[in-house]
Amino acid sequence: MIRLAEILDTHWDEYVHEGGRYIPPHVFKAANQIMACRTPILGTDVYRCPNCDTTKFVYHSCKNRFCPRCGQYETDHWAATILSQLPSIKHHHVVFTLPEQLRPLAKANPELLQTLLFHTSAAVIKEWFAEKHHTIPGIISVLQTAGSDLHYHPHIHMLVSAGGLKANQWFELASAYLVNHKYLQKKFRWLFLNQLVAAYDHGRLQLPGELAVMQERREFMRLVKKLHSVAWVVAVQPPLADPENIVRYVGRYTRRACLSEYRITDFSDGVITFECKDYTTAEAGKPGLKTVCLHYGEFFDRLFQHVPLPGFRMVRYYGLYAHFKDLPPLPAEEPRAMPEKLSWRELQIDKTGEDPLVCPACRCELVFWRTEFSAIPFLFPGSRLPELAYADTS
Ligand SMILES: [Zn+2]
Ligand SMILES: [Zn+2]
Repeated sequence: MIRLAEILDTHWDEYVHEGGRYIPPHVFKAANQIMACRTPILGTDVYRCPNCDTTKFVYHSCKNRFCPRCGQYETDHWAATILSQLPSIKHHHVVFTLPEQLRPLAKANPELLQTLLFHTSAAVIKEWFAEKHHTIPGIISVLQTAGSDLHYHPHIHMLVSAGGLKANQWFELASAYLVNHKYLQKKFRWLFLNQLVAAYDHGRLQLPGELAVMQERREFMRLVKKLHSVAWVVAVQPPLADPENIVRYVGRYTRRACLSEYRITDFSDGVITFECKDYTTAEAGKPGLKTVCLHYGEFFDRLFQHVPLPGFRMVRYYGLYAHFKDLPPLPAEEPRAMPEKLSWRELQIDKTGEDPLVCPACRCELVFWRTEFSAIPFLFPGSRLPELAYADTS
């Protein structure tokens, strides 16, 4: 497998020094942490066998939200926790997408527009449930900013309960049909654009570069008018009795990079090749696959625009799911225990069937000796030290 850390080790310095680019601090931090992840830079725990003096080194991991290697367990644990709490009623998967014409403005104002996207999409669903079903739905929204080709393509995946609470009892909607989706599109568009204009009028929008012409309100309103005339994409899927697949699907990038390393198929001469979905060759609604080849400059530009903003919550809970602990308990016939968080050692045993803290020579239990920090990689950037297969501390 080609590691993102390897690509960064080879080209990050050049990329940074090429100039002409503004690289925000949180992107620097993510790149540096991914390069340092599971190397002695972040520290090494040294274990020793009390019997035969065998020594074992365990490198620390970085736990950056964008590290392709660190988030897998966190992501699985999040999904398992959610699944242990959801009531056993059907759920819809709904996707809200910002229209293409809005993307430059969203890119220049990610925090504001992504927050608006969260709030307005949840508001239209809640309003619909209030008007039509006189109830409150449970909503889990997950923001993804990347399309599979890594272009900026902000959209929300939403899990919506196909029902609600009546007299503190869960009930399911009679029909599998959730909502007229034309209505949903129009309402979403109307609400979003209203709030966008309000933000503009309060001077809260940044208008750099080509957007500067919109300093003039007439120009900005020209864009708003155009946005009112295009269809905003909202996709509503039929309800599913078992939400496991949706929860795992929508949560897959909440705690790791939006590019899984196994999708990278080649890396040579400064060019990175990776697989992505091809909607032009869709069969039975399922997109085909194509490969994209990018020079490292373009590759880093595309990939690192998706590093989450510091403190920005990519998963939000609305309606009944805003407070899981206040929900009525699940029926006694289906008790589901909240998954426990595994320690690093338990996780390794779970993954490999091997206890990482047993001496490979004499099967004695290893004893923690000390944590070491090494300066060597700083002196020789780009020279990766050999990785340890079991290095994955938590
Ligand atoms: Zn990491
Ligand atoms: Zn031993």
